Parts: sequence; C-alpha cells; structure tokens
Amino acid sequence: SYRKGGYHAVRIGDPFAGGRYIAQRKLGWGQFSTVWLAYDTQSSKYVALKIQKSAQQFAQAALHEIEVLSSIADGDPSNSKCVVRLIDHFKHTGPNGQHLCMVLEFLGDSLLRLIRFNRYKGIELNKVREICKCILMGLDYLHRELGIIHTDLKPENILLFSTIDPTKDPIRSGLTPTLERPEGGTLNGGSTMNIIEKKLKRRARRAVANISVRRASMGGGGEAPKSARCLDGIDVRCKVVDFGNACWADKPFAEEIQTRQYRAPEVVLRSGYSCSVDMWSFACTAFELATGDMMFAPKSGQGFSDDEDHLALMMELLGKMPRKIAIGGARSKDYFDRHGDLKRIRRLKFWPLDRLLVEKYKFSESDAREFAEFLCPLLDFSPEKRPTAQQCLQHPWLNLRSSGQNEMQGQSNVDVGMRNLQI
Ligand code: ATP
Ligand code: MG
Ligand code: MG
Repeated sequence: SYRKGGYHAVRIGDPFAGGRYIAQRKLGWGQFSTVWLAYDTQSSKYVALKIQKSAQQFAQAALHEIEVLSSIADGDPSNSKCVVRLIDHFKHTGPNGQHLCMVLEFLGDSLLRLIRFNRYKGIELNKVREICKCILMGLDYLHRELGIIHTDLKPENILLFSTIDPTKDPIRSGLTPTLERPEGGTLNGGSTMNIIEKKLKRRARRAVANISVRRASMGGGGEAPKSARCLDGIDVRCKVVDFGNACWADKPFAEEIQTRQYRAPEVVLRSGYSCSVDMWSFACTAFELATGDMMFAPKSGQGFSDDEDHLALMMELLGKMPRKIAIGGARSKDYFDRHGDLKRIRRLKFWPLDRLLVEKYKFSESDAREFAEFLCPLLDFSPEKRPTAQQCLQHPWLNLRSSGQNEMQGQSNVDVGMRNLQI
C-alpha cells in the first residue's frame, strides 16, 4: 500500500506542516490511513497525526471526516463530550501524492486492546459501567445535539485516555517529564527562539509517551513494556473515534453500514436506519467488555449465508423477531418466509441473555439480571423502541456497584500504564 495513491511512508523525526509537528512513532493504521504520534512544537503537546492515503477516493473520505470532526469540535468548545477532538488539518505532499492529514488529540489504547489484555475474560462490571457512561455521553452529544450517526461503533473505535492534566502531573498523566521549558537566551549564535525550537524538537524525538493497558499481575513483563508503571485507581475515561463512516441522520448515504458483528437487524434487512443503529452497536460493545466475547459472531454455513446466521443468532438470544419487522425490509425475502420464519435455519436454540450470563459467563444471578435489563431494551428489534443515549444515561444499572467478583472476572482489571520508550 506504500505506492502512488496509497499510504505516506513516515520516518521518526519527519516534520509536518512546515515543521510544526514532528513524527514520533506509529500508533496504528486502518484501511484509509496511518496514524502517528507527533509532537506539536506550537502547543508543546503530543498529538495523533492521521495521514490519509492519497488517491482521490481517500481524499474525498478525509474531507468528509474533517467536516464531521469540525462540527463535533465546534459544538464542544470545552472538549468534554467524550468524542475525539480535531485540532488541525493540512495537506502533505510526498512521493506517493498529496495526503490530507488530520491532527487529533492524542488518546490511549483502544477497548479492543483492553479486552485482549484481559485475555478475553471480561472486565470488572464496575469498570464496564464507567466506560459505558463515557460512550453514552459521546453518543448523546452526537445524536441529540448534532444529528450525527457514527455507524461504526465497536471496541476498536473507542480509545482510553487519562484525565490527569499532563502540565500538572506529567508522570501520572502518562506523559514523560522531559518537556520542561529549556533555559534560553544565554548561548551565542542564533536567536533564542531558534535554540528553544531546536532543543524542543530534539527532545521530542527522544521522548515518547503513551497511555497503555496491561494486566496488573504481569509486573512489568509479558506484553507490557518494562518501564510501564501501574496507575491503578485512576479515573480512566474513553472517547469515541474514527468518524470516516459517520453520516448525518437526515441524509444516510450508505446502505450497508457497521462492522458485521455490531450490525443492527434493520441494516441486515435493509429497512432503513437512524441513530438507534449506534445503540445496537453500543449494547454489543458493552456485552463484549463484560464477557470478553463478541455478542454475535455470525458465520456462513451449509446452505445459509452469514446474514441468515446473524439473524438466527439474534433470535436465539432475544426471542423471535416480530413478523412485521422480519418481512418489512428490502432483503427480507432472501431470509424469511411469509410467516416470518427463517427459510434455511429452521431450528433455533433459544438461550436468553440473563441465562447465558449465568450459565456461560458465571455471572451471579443478580449481576446477570441487572445487566440483561440494561442491555435488552437496546437490542429491541424495532429500532424506534430502543432507548436513546439520553434515556439510557438515566438507567439505574449505570449507578449500581457490584461487590462480588465473578469467577470469570477474577483476573480482570483496567490499568493505565505508562510507556516511556527511548528511540
Ligand atoms: P478504519 O479502517 O478503521 O476506518 P482509519 O484509517 O480511518 O481506519 P482510524 O480508525 O481513525 O483510521 O485510526 C487507526 C488507528 O490509529 C486506531 O485504531 C488507533 O489505534 C489509532 N488512533 C487513531 N486515532 C488516535 C488518537 N486520536 N490517539 C491515539 N491513537 C489513535
Ligand atoms: Mg478505525
Ligand atoms: Mg475510518
């Protein structure tokens, strides 16, 4: 993909936007871009630099993402709504063409990594509640105040961040303390500003920070870097990212939206969609956080497609789909007969959510009942019956505290570690 029209190759120390941003190390990548940790010499802060592939269709997608991110930033001057903040954007020309670049606030590891670090055993319910509150605050802002549907909500697109102000407490915030202002003005030759600039850039090249997750019991070994420090007990929050597929609720443009496992039934059936598709994905994400397993992992089989398997899995967990909804979509005839029964998957094995939580995931009866009561309304087959993010924020489950640890959750922990890699 590193060819004309594709990714831009970056080396550590590369300057962007006339030297304002200095590349530090790669944070991640997707189908559209590579994302780099960069040092912003103007604000003396770390930022995430998303460098889009250069071909026309990627540039178009980036312009759309910038438009969405700009309205998100405009409506949230205090940056408190649990959605990633766009700081700047510019064009960068390289050997593979012209790349649109987005400068985003620097966030930590994704919830997917958090799930992996907990060895797919699920995260303690009290932590799940805190994470759910953040996601819901982000969704409430997007849906109610801006009329934006994210359309790709999933653990990978929710990033952790630390709430500690790095200027006040650089070590605990996860940022290296190497960025103190250099003493200037005494050296011969060159302007003071120039010297400070150069020093800052040199330091920035060496100092790299991250907000990372790791298991407490690893004690610095395993996948966690040796220098990682356990920041247990810190209020960890998260933000929604990746607005490349987001759309305005009054003009949805793509028919097929969402990543398969987080896709709502009305999208599978092509019955039209609205903000409530994000609520479905949110419920799938909350389940995955608490159990470590995807709620629905459909596969095609002998004589049936992954779509039909998906519909079967939904009904096995949530009960039969009302006939009117089952036969109401443009694709309904492919999967359902006129009675509202699946054509090729005839025998369903019902396993309701609260029983599944007790029997497979060893939740206590009360934890299972309460969590199922929270999730099930979000998984209503009729989209307009699902609670909105605003209504969901009022749900008592979010303010419960469970004391008893489940067997499956004994190992779970959210740790924010500090990585201080020297390059
Ligand atoms: P996709 O194929 O998922 O659409 P994309 O090219 O649009 O990918 P993103 O999903 O925005 O790219 O980002 C890719 C990865 O970069 C993320 O999964 C994450 O690991 C990392 N990343 C993105 N934004 C940030 C940020 N603000 N802070 C830290 N890391 C980030
Ligand atoms: Mg992504
Ligand atoms: Mg994207």
